[in-house]
Amino acid sequence: KIEADSEIGNDVSDTDSDTDSDPGPPITIQSTVAAGITIERTIGRGRFGTVCLATWRGGPVAVKIFASRDSMSWARESDIYSTAMLHHENLLGFIASDTLDTGTQTEFWLIMDYHHLGSLYDYLNIRPVSQLQLMAMMYSIANGLTHLHLELIGTNNQDKPSIAHRDLKSKNILVKRNGECCIADLGLAVRFSSDSKTVDIPANEKVGTIRYMPPEILNGTLDSARFESFTRGDIYSCGLVLWEILNAFNRAKVPPRERHRLPYFDTMPDDPSLEEARAVVCEAGVRPELPAPSNAMMSSLHTLLRECWAADAVVRLTSLRVKKKLAALSSQYFGVPRS
Ligand code: ADP
Ligand code: MG
Ligand code: MG
Repeated sequence: KIEADSEIGNDVSDTDSDTDSDPGPPITIQSTVAAGITIERTIGRGRFGTVCLATWRGGPVAVKIFASRDSMSWARESDIYSTAMLHHENLLGFIASDTLDTGTQTEFWLIMDYHHLGSLYDYLNIRPVSQLQLMAMMYSIANGLTHLHLELIGTNNQDKPSIAHRDLKSKNILVKRNGECCIADLGLAVRFSSDSKTVDIPANEKVGTIRYMPPEILNGTLDSARFESFTRGDIYSCGLVLWEILNAFNRAKVPPRERHRLPYFDTMPDDPSLEEARAVVCEAGVRPELPAPSNAMMSSLHTLLRECWAADAVVRLTSLRVKKKLAALSSQYFGVPRS
């Protein structure tokens, strides 16, 4: 169940345009969608899915294709994307879920908005990030995560449950053409509504990506009976992602393709084992290095990161607090108000 550290990356090309964001509700299961789609090329690969650029109704879409043996993962991710009121500008837009009989086997498809800039991981490695972009990226991630985490009361019993992602990392975040990010890959997410007072699937496994796992998962002390344990875990991983953006910004002069560094690049091996990660994060208490801050804004950002990756999950900021702090920094230093 643990996603490997390394995935095949994305071709970053400028020529394809993104999906026009359609604010309408998703078309969920509609068995005519896949038949009308033309697959163009593979753009990404993860643990289960192959992600392809495709054309549907004259525009680009991204299709994540699961083999039959992984249909359970497809069903779970479709189900999560079908959650009421999930639609948000900083969460990957879901279009439809479908199956396709290729004659020899059945493929399971998730059809989503396409973002030609690819994952944050790929983007940071290739393109320089300005201070203003850094702020836009960080804020949008916090904004998307806040929406995911918040429980919302809707009409007709259509409440939005609280959702914890459980696999936040730069490869599971996409960059939009406006410079904001959206959170993707909800395959490991868990939901909780205060009505039922239960997490919707058994969630006591060590899932996610070892490099980004919070200390309480690495050392097995996470209290899975309390849903906030999972959202607090997301905040730790979010802190590491924010560090990646900051680090890429600080390394703007380093040549592209050597610029980006994963968190713990200097303290963990490639594909670290649980034990190796535990020794670093829990025993030695190591966190990514923050250089001496060059100004007051950087100093505030460093404080924010430390409040995200604190060893004690209870003292970590909530996603809403992260969002509000970033909004305050944005208006204070750039005069860009964010809501
Ligand atoms: P997995 O669950 O197998 O990890 P992901 O959903 O994370 O699959 O997708 C794998 C990779 O494909 C991502 O890291 C990203 O590079 C690329 N990708 C995924 N969705 C899109 C999309 N909608 N637009 C552009 N690239 C995408
Ligand atoms: Mg992924
Ligand atoms: Mg996944």
